[in-house]
Amino acid sequence: MNYSLAIHGGAGTILRSSMTPEKEQAYHLALRESLIAGENILAKGGSALDAVTASIVSLENCPLFNAGLGSVYTNEGKHEMDASIMEGSLLEAGAVSMLKNIKNPILLAKTILEKSEHVFLCGEGAETFARDNGLNFEPDEYFNTLFRKEQWLQALNEDQILLDHNGLNEKKFGTVGAVAKDRNGNLAAGTSTGGMTNKKFNRIGDSPIIGAGTYANNNTCAISCTGHGEYFIRGVVAYDVSCLMEYKGLSLKEACEVVILDKQVRLGGEGGLIGVNKMGDVALVFNSEGMYRGCIKEGEGLETKIYK
Ligand code: ASP
Repeated sequence: MNYSLAIHGGAGTILRSSMTPEKEQAYHLALRESLIAGENILAKGGSALDAVTASIVSLENCPLFNAGLGSVYTNEGKHEMDASIMEGSLLEAGAVSMLKNIKNPILLAKTILEKSEHVFLCGEGAETFARDNGLNFEPDEYFNTLFRKEQWLQALNEDQILLDHNGLNEKKFGTVGAVAKDRNGNLAAGTSTGGMTNKKFNRIGDSPIIGAGTYANNNTCAISCTGHGEYFIRGVVAYDVSCLMEYKGLSLKEACEVVILDKQVRLGGEGGLIGVNKMGDVALVFNSEGMYRGCIKEGEGLETKIYK
């Protein structure tokens, strides 16, 4: 059986006109590195779960995306990260939210999936679990990137809570995610984010919520979302795609298009998702101007894209 892998680095108002060739190249390179990190595992017969984790770790360690190192600032000038991961054979899952100082939130979500009797941990409790399990912590300064600080100061000045933006009238969602099918036919999905710039009240988006931002089931699909989290939670987006396939017999592509191009548009939710099914077909669907994305299928070339 052939493997497939797809990744995203967020959707939103990503316009050619506001991009320099150097920046564009940096994004393509980072997406490529992430795909290669995941593919190295799949090509050796490794699991979809490990591949998804490796691809996301690579994106979390890159300052270009709103996850891990490049996470946006909260209203208090801190970083609060959310992540989740799920595998499609036993429907096992791990999720974390409101994390501070954890270098790779996706590794903590995976450790919960593998070692905890629970699915969803948050805040200080999740950090204690991380410490007990030897995960890497970083000081506040590690997450203090200049680009994000400028975004936050601008948002603070305007008293706005913004989705990872690059201009006051532009929305950009820099969350990262990956979905994969391995050679044994197992599916997995994962998502990791810093959430919204200038967020208050321990706001949590869709990314750590199983069924909203992330879902995997070997019988249907594996999905990772990016977009305006409030709408994606209300649309139970990732599970809705799976349900349309399971109960209505839609193909992966049809189900993704119904959810993102019709239902989310009617609800007002901007964003997109990536999906893979048990045949290894890949879907990369978004209703925004662009989505940082890429995919690779065994025996076919690697592809990375930004715009429509
Ligand atoms: N969905 C994420 C959230 O609402 C944002 C993103 O996709 O960048 O937290």
